[in-house]
This record gives sequence, C-alpha cells and structure tokens, in this order.
Amino acid sequence: MAILLDGKKVAGRIKADVKKALAGLKKAAPRLVGVSVGQTPATCMHLKSQAKLAGEMGIAYHLEVLPEAAAQKEVAEVIAGFNKDAATTGVILQMPLPAALCAQTLRSVIAPQKDAEGVHPVHLGEVVLGSGSIMPCTAAACMEILKDYEVPLRGREAVVVGHSEIVGKPLSMMLLKEFATTTVCHIATSEAGRLEEHVRRADVLIVAVGRAGLIRGEWIKEGAAVLDVGINRYASGIVGDVVFEGASRRAGWITPVPGGVGPVAVAMLMKNTIALLQK
Ligand code: NAD
Repeated sequence: MAILLDGKKVAGRIKADVKKALAGLKKAAPRLVGVSVGQTPATCMHLKSQAKLAGEMGIAYHLEVLPEAAAQKEVAEVIAGFNKDAATTGVILQMPLPAALCAQTLRSVIAPQKDAEGVHPVHLGEVVLGSGSIMPCTAAACMEILKDYEVPLRGREAVVVGHSEIVGKPLSMMLLKEFATTTVCHIATSEAGRLEEHVRRADVLIVAVGRAGLIRGEWIKEGAAVLDVGINRYASGIVGDVVFEGASRRAGWITPVPGGVGPVAVAMLMKNTIALLQK
C-alpha cells in the first residue's frame, strides 16, 4: 500500500513558516482580496477555505463577487481598482471564470507586486528562468509535497498530465529545475491514444486535468509517486483524476483527494501573500 501524501501535514509546516514570517513583518498589514465572477463561498469550497485560512493566519481577507454576466472590461476595472488601493496587498482572481472571460488577459491586469497566486506573466516567466520568490501556488504546492516526502526527482521520469498555464506548464519547469526527465501530456496525447504508455513509465506522475477516472490504477508504475491535482465534484463528494483504489495498491506514494494538493495550494497562497510584502 502506498504512503499517503498528507496535504494537511505539509500545509501545517507551511502555515508555521507563514506565521513566523508574518511576525517578522515590520509595518505592512497584509490584506488579500479574492475577485470572483459568479461564485460565492456557498457554492465553492476553495473560497471558503481561503477565507478560513487567511483568518487563521491573521491576514485580512475580502471576497469581491461580481455577477456571472460581468464583462471582461468590468472585471479588469475592478482588479485595477484593487491594484491602486493601498490597503490591498494581494489579489487573486478566482477560477473557474465564465466562458466569456479570458483568464490569461485578466491575470495580466493584476499588478505583479500584488499577484498573490503567482500567475502574472512576470512570475510565470521567472519560473522558466528558475528564479523568483512568488511561484504559481498549485504547481509550487506539488513541489512542496515532493520535497517534504523526499521523493527522488533527479534523473527520474516525471510525467505531468495537463498543460494549463497555471499548473501543468509551470510544474514541468519546476520539475526540470530538479533535473527530472519531464514529459507533459495533454488532450492531444489522449487523442493519439498514447496517454497510457507515458503514464506507465512515470516514476513521478502529476495529473491536473479535471476528468474523474482518467488515470487507471493499473497504469501506475510500481513504487511511483502519484499527485492528483484534479477536482471533480459530485453530490457524494470530491474525487480526483486518478482511480485511487487501484493506483494506491501500486504507487509508492499517493495524494488523497480531498486532503492532498488542495490544502497545500491554499497555504502557498498565504505564503505568497506574505512574500509580496517582503520584496
Ligand atoms: P485546465 O482546465 O486549464 O486544462 C485542462 C488540461 O487537461 C489541459 O492541458 C488539457 O489539454 C488537458 N486534458 C483535457 N482532457 C484530457 C484528456 N482526456 N487527456 C489528457 N489531458 C487532457 O487545467 P487546470 O486549470 O490546471 O485544472 C486542472 C484540474 O486541476 C481541474 O480539475 C481543477 O479544478 C484542478 N485544480 C486544482 C487545484 C487545487 O488546488 N487542488 C488548483 C487548480 C486547479
């Protein structure tokens, strides 16, 4: 049976670091603002956990909810307003956005010095260079988990499934920085019928797609580390993209869903919020 990669435990270590850093801040009072289009804490678990963790850390938190039908220009203006607001020290644009809005364009509107999620082009560019202190939260969360559990990366086959701008792509760069031999799979890999063969040779497999059951248990290499970023909501609860039952019998390490990458990503958001003030 695989070792469970306990996200709450890793998040606990990061939260302790955040508290220490916060105590060391001389003057600035952190205030994180979430900009959400159409979603509310009642409909979205991650909004609730952000507010809760910010409160626990002593970071002021405000959620600005815009109507589902808000236009791109309107959302950009709201973000620009928080860029100018001296009391706001960090801004996060909540995902998912309604289909009519362009996430990439709106992320570029956030001032880099307030980009708490680490998804502004400046911060994504720093990931390519292997430098920078503000990292995209979810990708960085995966690396924190691998580090805390001392999963070997150098020279190992790492396979990332999903090539989004904020998870899969930066993660592939972070894995390269650790000298893992890195492959990125995506929708066209599946269309070509080649997803299984890539997954089968992964020593480290990270899946960020959003399709329950995409990765079958029998595809997992014996002893592999499996990180499941996917979130698929059902009335019965949340599941990831990997079939946990089968995968956990073959893997060496595996994240549960929920309780794996999610809590670490929220903790990284708080870490970034404080790091922005230390710049
Ligand atoms: P996205 O939704 O922007 O893109 C999905 C990716 O999956 C694309 O690269 C696409 O090519 C790929 N894909 C789609 N169907 C595929 C298939 N059949 N085979 C292989 N690849 C396929 O990605 P995202 O924003 O990174 O989100 C991915 C998942 O991660 C979602 O479930 C999201 O909710 C979840 N997520 C979780 C956290 C967390 O904190 N745990 C944070 C961010 C995103």
